[in-house]
Amino acid sequence: MINQLQEKYQLSLLLLLSVVAVLGISPFVVIRYLAGNFTAAIIDITLILGIITLVGYAYYAKKIRRVSAVIAIFINAGVVTIVIANGIDSFLWIYPVFASTFVLVKPIEALGINAVAGVTIVKFSNIFTTISEDSFIVTNLMLSLCVFVYASHSAKQFRLLEDLNTTDPLTGAFNRRAMSSDMQAALINAEHDGIKQWLAILDLDYFKRVNDKFGHAVGDQILKDFVAITTSHIGKYDRLYRFGGEEFVLLIPESSNQQQMFFDSLRTAIKKELKNPDGEAITVSFGVADWVPNTTADTWLQRADEALYLAKDRGRDCVVFSDS
Ligand code: GH3
Ligand code: MG
Ligand code: MG
Repeated sequence: MINQLQEKYQLSLLLLLSVVAVLGISPFVVIRYLAGNFTAAIIDITLILGIITLVGYAYYAKKIRRVSAVIAIFINAGVVTIVIANGIDSFLWIYPVFASTFVLVKPIEALGINAVAGVTIVKFSNIFTTISEDSFIVTNLMLSLCVFVYASHSAKQFRLLEDLNTTDPLTGAFNRRAMSSDMQAALINAEHDGIKQWLAILDLDYFKRVNDKFGHAVGDQILKDFVAITTSHIGKYDRLYRFGGEEFVLLIPESSNQQQMFFDSLRTAIKKELKNPDGEAITVSFGVADWVPNTTADTWLQRADEALYLAKDRGRDCVVFSDS
């Protein structure tokens, strides 16, 4: 789920940018050709074909970030080439290209790419016999800095939006929306790539008593502690979601066949570290279901839930695996 919003947004920008670029550059192929400027016409055609190919690849291979970076370098190299080859006639292209670089890569990377392109133009093109080099540098610096500030601000807002969209505000665990999306991805990975996963529902034992005895605010703090403790004991690719109330879901890629030991050591660690204000241990029950062929998100959760029900039935503070 993380970065999916950003990826979708990036892809739509990429498509928009390529349409604008292709529509913008195409007439110039004809104009340059009719004017007998074949070098410029060929550079323009190369740019158009390159952009179409790269965007097409990004779309189908879903490698949006990497391809965006390649396109950013490609269009900057393109504008440098055309300004050096064609001179003052093509110099206005520098401005839209420099601005669109910020749409394609991180603001700081865009600044770097633009700086390299700008310096190359200053060193190797002959346009400064016609226009002032100082004006060129100052206007480009102004453009890049303004877009840099805007793009940085927009990137920050995007990260905030993504956090709000995927995180549980009380505990900081991922939320149910993120869980649904990640489970779909996990199911696809398991079906297509054989990357199997484990899904566990973790339910705090007798949590109502904690609330009744110590109050809701203490209950809230214990939920936060639970998330901090659990997160510190799980792997880099394992994800913890708040399923609702005092129930959490753990999604774990199958890394070994030591899962029984892993879940049990997690249960023990939580029991050791999670305490109520009287210093008494708070325990957790686990219902675990592995991925099996033809699993859907609903059946997977249901199997884990049935296992959890058995764990509660067997006296709590234990791990029960669903029989697949
Ligand atoms: P069991 O061992 O069977 O799971 O017992 P339990 O008391 O944990 O389960 P029950 O479903 O009876 O109660 C769950 C409690 O979790 C009730 C509710 O007040 C509490 N709870 C749910 N969400 C929150 C929350 O956000 N903050 C606090 N403080 N309590 C919550
Ligand atoms: Mg409970
Ligand atoms: Mg419960």
